[in-house]
Amino acid sequence: MGVYESLGLTPVINATGTVTRLGGAPMPPTVLDAYRDAADEWVPLDRLQAAACKMISQVTGAEAGIVTAGAAAGLTLGAAAILAGMDLGTMERLPRTDGIADEFIVAREHRNGYDHAVRAAGARFVEVGFNEVTAGAGVRRVEAWEYEAAISDRTAGILYVYLENSAPPLEQVVDVAHRHALPVLVDAAGELPPRSNLLLASMTGADLVSFSGGKAIRGPQSTGVLCGRRDLIASAALQMLDMDDHFDLWEPPTALFDVEKLSGIPRHGIGRTMKVSKEEIVALMTALALFARSGYADELPAQRDRLTRIMDSLRGTDVELRLRDPADHESSPLLEIVVGDRHHVSALDVCRNLRQGKPPIYVGHHKLHEGILVINPLCLSDERADLVGDRMREELS
Ligand SMILES: *Cc1c(COP(=O)(O)O)cnc(C)c1O
Repeated sequence: MGVYESLGLTPVINATGTVTRLGGAPMPPTVLDAYRDAADEWVPLDRLQAAACKMISQVTGAEAGIVTAGAAAGLTLGAAAILAGMDLGTMERLPRTDGIADEFIVAREHRNGYDHAVRAAGARFVEVGFNEVTAGAGVRRVEAWEYEAAISDRTAGILYVYLENSAPPLEQVVDVAHRHALPVLVDAAGELPPRSNLLLASMTGADLVSFSGGKAIRGPQSTGVLCGRRDLIASAALQMLDMDDHFDLWEPPTALFDVEKLSGIPRHGIGRTMKVSKEEIVALMTALALFARSGYADELPAQRDRLTRIMDSLRGTDVELRLRDPADHESSPLLEIVVGDRHHVSALDVCRNLRQGKPPIYVGHHKLHEGILVINPLCLSDERADLVGDRMREELS
């Protein structure tokens, strides 16, 4: 019996990719081996994070970096670092922000459920721009001058949610922010691949960038990478690490901390709730090295082959099939199955029936409103792909 069966659970077939709700990405065997090896011995976590810092800065070109408990945790830590800097008293008080600048400027069109992560540190949002395009009421997206017009002495920083087509371009927002000596915190959680986005901080000058470790990097689901300015990373690390030591005994690793800037040792900070284990740190570093080297590109032909098998199963049904090979040659290919409204069942029905079948199958549901089911092959094996094909043919015949 498998571990999940012994808990009374039925494992599902994940045909939707690295989504958190189903447990994220498959960890490569090398990553799992590293996790197990890391469990055999003990190291001070601040030194392990300092080793991660060196490696992350090599891979990202940023001054510094730490392993976080996910991209969302990285946003909380990043906001806490921007709010407190190296001020131990403010670290102690967060999320209370009495007497300090605590506003983060954010475009209305960038707001999403993850901004909870930023507010959790004590930040308050000031929105700029409109959602005119979505509202069908205009043609313009948010513009750089709108950020500038919102800056006041209460402004602590800017939050920017990065997508390939985010407006305005990140460089313009960084330019506005830096003219006013303000930092920019970037959520780029799911924007890998392309691998080149690892360089976002160094290429755009953004002060902090947060990535997920459990999506395309394929580290543990509960990890992430926060990289950027050295002083802000030091603050984030201080507010996350366990601080139960004596200042006279503690030897702060110099890769992470400018020792002369430390006037004492803070107590556990707001990020202590987001601790990362030694096993997770080592596993994430292993996965990051693999991702940075190849982006797992050698697996793409097998993934495409799985989609072809599913397409073969669906020949003879009257659904339209669209194989999407991503332009970046790095992301997984996707199969769109257009159920549309000319069918006896809707895409939503098929999606539900697949989940309720044996074994349960989860397909991509982000285009249901267009009548489209999306298959992502990243978490499929050949056998599972065949099961997906068979079950879908049943549903669509
Ligand atoms: C996935 C995602 C997150 C959260 O990342 P975790 O690593 O799961 O914490 C945050 N923001 C965006 C835009 C995401 O896609």
